[in-house]
Amino acid sequence: MPTVETVTGPVDADELGTTLIHEHLIFRDEAVLVQWPHAGTVKESEPPENVDEEGAFEAALESARAVLEHGVKTIAEPTAMFGGRDVRFSRRVAEETGLQVVPCTGIYTYDYLPPYFSFRDEDAMADLFVHDIEEGIQGTDIKAAFLKCAADEPGVTPNIEKVHRAVARASVRTGKSIMAHSRPASQTGPRQVEIFLEEGVAPERIQIAHTGDTDDLDYIEGLLRTGVYIGMDRYGLNIFLPLDRRNATVTALLERGYAERMFLSQDFCATLDWYPPEVGRQLMEQGAAKDWSMTLVFEQVIPALREAGMTDDQLETMMVSNAKRWLTA
Ligand SMILES: [Zn+2]
Repeated sequence: MPTVETVTGPVDADELGTTLIHEHLIFRDEAVLVQWPHAGTVKESEPPENVDEEGAFEAALESARAVLEHGVKTIAEPTAMFGGRDVRFSRRVAEETGLQVVPCTGIYTYDYLPPYFSFRDEDAMADLFVHDIEEGIQGTDIKAAFLKCAADEPGVTPNIEKVHRAVARASVRTGKSIMAHSRPASQTGPRQVEIFLEEGVAPERIQIAHTGDTDDLDYIEGLLRTGVYIGMDRYGLNIFLPLDRRNATVTALLERGYAERMFLSQDFCATLDWYPPEVGRQLMEQGAAKDWSMTLVFEQVIPALREAGMTDDQLETMMVSNAKRWLTA
């Protein structure tokens, strides 16, 4: 039986159970946190407010307990470098609630890299990722279960290509799978996949996150034809695509036989420091992120997809089997 690393140790892949593939227990800039700790973090819930460390922990507990109530056993937590990855924080949440939290390694940037990486190559970067996978993260014995990188509005710049190649090489060296944040509006997905394949990563180890931000079926099927997984993983972020259009897309893809390549998730951040509190409140209230939570999939999405014809089998495939298959590919 293959195992999957979690922040509380390896579990049998069969023990993953219902899994949300893309949820953040915390997301904040680690440089701001170190340099101006008094600025704290911003809780992105109702209503957003400044919170201290304990507040961030409480927010994570709240989300963890909420998903457990819906039968979720596991979340994949794709917070990497620049997102304030903190595996001790995740472990506290896991220990306190019993939720299985699957950690990653990688770099979340849309272009910028510190000079540290300017004078080191892809292989040196890959060495760091491999360290997290084989030795442990941040001085703990918690091992990364998958790799993370990102491409967004600037596209696949030289720096972004470097991170993608480093992630790919670490994947080839360790056998761990890759989750790549993408931006369909900039059509980043095909180039991201191309780089991974060039580096020798098998398609079944690749997940192109945020593909559900578009309802352009030609673009999506272009990706699926390469054999990769896609994340229909930003439910609630209406600012990118409203919920009903996300559902129509998933329904169409289910009808075309792609249940085995799709994940449903929310990319929710129990704590998010991107916005001043008043702006965060506005986004939640005006509908840009209305009802965004770690449980929206269960409350609004699954019932609507069932109504549209999704079968129990298809649901089990997307919420249980796919995570197991992708994480152990
Ligand atoms: Zn994310």
